[in-house]
Amino acid sequence: FRAIATNLFDENQALLGTVIVVENIGEETNEKERHAEFVSSVAHELKTPMAGIKAYIEMLLDGDCEEEEAEELYGFINEQIDRLTRLVNSMLNLARIESGVVEIKRHDCELNDILKSAADVISPNAGEKDITFTSELSDLYLPVHVDKDMLGQAIINLLSNAVKYTPHGHEVRLRSRMEDNTAVIEVRDTGMGIPENSLPHIFDRFYRVPENNRSAAGTGLGLALVHFIVTNVHNGSISVQSVVNKGTCFTVTIPLGHKEQKKKKQLASPV
Ligand code: ADP
Repeated sequence: FRAIATNLFDENQALLGTVIVVENIGEETNEKERHAEFVSSVAHELKTPMAGIKAYIEMLLDGDCEEEEAEELYGFINEQIDRLTRLVNSMLNLARIESGVVEIKRHDCELNDILKSAADVISPNAGEKDITFTSELSDLYLPVHVDKDMLGQAIINLLSNAVKYTPHGHEVRLRSRMEDNTAVIEVRDTGMGIPENSLPHIFDRFYRVPENNRSAAGTGLGLALVHFIVTNVHNGSISVQSVVNKGTCFTVTIPLGHKEQKKKKQLASPV
């Protein structure tokens, strides 16, 4: 903290009082540090595919590749460009939501409707991998005051990870229930799991579990976005439990209640 004190005098130079301005410069420094850290991780993430593209192009320019080899190199270049595109799109999406450029449109909604739409998006992906995808949604009406597109996107990210990091023929399950004054959503899979030492980093930007990503394409930004949407935008919580080779369960909680009910509750509560 930084405090600046200024004495105030009247026209006869008599002391009227002292104004003390206390600034939380720690927060400002943290913000700057976080920004610098983000820029340096972005630069690092972009450098890897760019270095790959350059190396492959140099090999092609050398000119002594067989046709088959050249075709393979074009394929690699194409993959790296796809990776760059995914990275840039995910970074823009995250930055726009975090910086508040994207307007948050909260409405009174029913949570199971949002979950059903997310399930419809993911079902075909699960089908392609012969994954048994089941939804066990609460029979109760779950009223929430949320941005349904953003929350839907967060659930889609969790479900698509569950499908991506689960082998053919396994299971993914989406559940909802009511607990006290919150709605609880569970996305569970019987896939490869996350090692214990990776769990503390799983919501960090660009973090990818080294053991899980030999073949799966991704950016390491999906869960950072989910975390932001759940905690910062919707005042909810997210946690993860996982056992390697057994599976993973992400649990999201969202406060229950429609805006009108919340207002009535506030009016009814004693002052
Ligand atoms: P990515 O684009 O790499 O999928 P995410 O931020 O969505 O990035 O996830 C970060 C990392 O967490 C993934 O790279 C993967 O290693 C791990 N992960 C996420 N969900 C699961 C899951 N359901 N099962 C196993 N590992 C997962």
